[in-house]
Amino acid sequence: MRIILLGAPGSGKGTQAQRLQKDLGLPQISTGDLLRKAAVSGSEFGLQAKMAMDAGELVSNSVVLEMMKERLSACDVGSGYVLDGFPRNQIQAEGLDTVLSDLGQTLDAAVFMDVSHEVLMKRLTGRRTCSKTGKLMNIHFSSQQDLDECIEAGGTLIRRDDDNEDTIRNRLEVYERETEPLITYYRKCRLLQVVDAHTRAAASQNIEVRLVALPGFGFDVDTPEDLRQVHQYPRARQTASFLDSIGFVGRYPRLDRDVGSDLVAIG
Ligand code: ADP
Repeated sequence: MRIILLGAPGSGKGTQAQRLQKDLGLPQISTGDLLRKAAVSGSEFGLQAKMAMDAGELVSNSVVLEMMKERLSACDVGSGYVLDGFPRNQIQAEGLDTVLSDLGQTLDAAVFMDVSHEVLMKRLTGRRTCSKTGKLMNIHFSSQQDLDECIEAGGTLIRRDDDNEDTIRNRLEVYERETEPLITYYRKCRLLQVVDAHTRAAASQNIEVRLVALPGFGFDVDTPEDLRQVHQYPRARQTASFLDSIGFVGRYPRLDRDVGSDLVAIG
């Protein structure tokens, strides 16, 4: 399954991409992470990328497209992935279309994570990482206990270089100008799924409901070996139970094949 997560900075793309990686085994491909890694490496390309990132501007399309062409052709993502932070404008979206068609692949969905401006600002200005444990926190939303734990463990609460007010304002402006039009782009391609993402729990549940209804979701359960594999995806079992509990009658296709009594354990 190939999915794009679309959304403003702070809409929770990274969090959801990590969750989908853990629960569905779809590798997360984050351009932000790849670019930050390049910046730390100190290469010329990395330093250029860091300058753009610190200013809240986009790194140049040619650099990002070259980097993504290489990443999307790697063998570990041959059967699917979640794109987090890419594409970010029309040129990148068209570039992605070309890479995919060269690889003979198609996208399954572009999920737009809808969050109000007010919530985005709180998330971005409050975001901190514990220097000791790497745990992500927010001074507006995390419990005092979580924040204290970091300090007590001898850590400090670090702010990402591009999470200061000026850069945040610019990142949001760049998002509105460059990335928001992709909502229309993917709507026209009939790939758009809009989900309410105001809380992490709502985002998780809403994304899941959309994904299981897609033709690309599911597991072929034809043999005992297939069935064993399905059982390795705890989320697939939970999703099936969840869908049953709300009386969902659409697809969670392929799980409802006749595979004998074991299926009862899945559903
Ligand atoms: P956020 O979405 O919260 O802004 P990211 O980690 O996705 O965080 O991106 C951080 C920065 O990395 C962006 O502000 C931009 O400078 C750069 N970046 C990430 N993805 C892209 C991309 N697809 N094209 C150009 N620049 C990018």
